[in-house]
Amino acid sequence: MTDGVEKVLLAKQVEITNLIDGLTAGLAAAGQSANRSRSDRYGLASDRHSQVATLDELRRQSQEIKRALTKVGDDTYGVCDVCGEHIAPARLEIRPWAVVCVACAD
Ligand SMILES: [Zn+2]
Repeated sequence: MTDGVEKVLLAKQVEITNLIDGLTAGLAAAGQSANRSRSDRYGLASDRHSQVATLDELRRQSQEIKRALTKVGDDTYGVCDVCGEHIAPARLEIRPWAVVCVACAD
């Protein structure tokens, strides 16, 4: 049942890593830019806030993918990390990196 999953997870991990790198570089560049008007700075601050939130979410997802890949290697992919029950195939289809079942994710 893990046929092809590893490939999907690795591709997703590359995608997320690129997004994280892009956001991190953007935030670093924004932090360095000077001589902005007050309204620019204000806009930048709220942008920065949402970018940091996105970055946190991406990092969390990256950890989940890493964990899911470990589970593929351990042959426990598709088994909930919390309760040990099988994760619904429909959930794995939408979220192939899911490591806990719907009940435990709530
Ligand atoms: Zn569970």
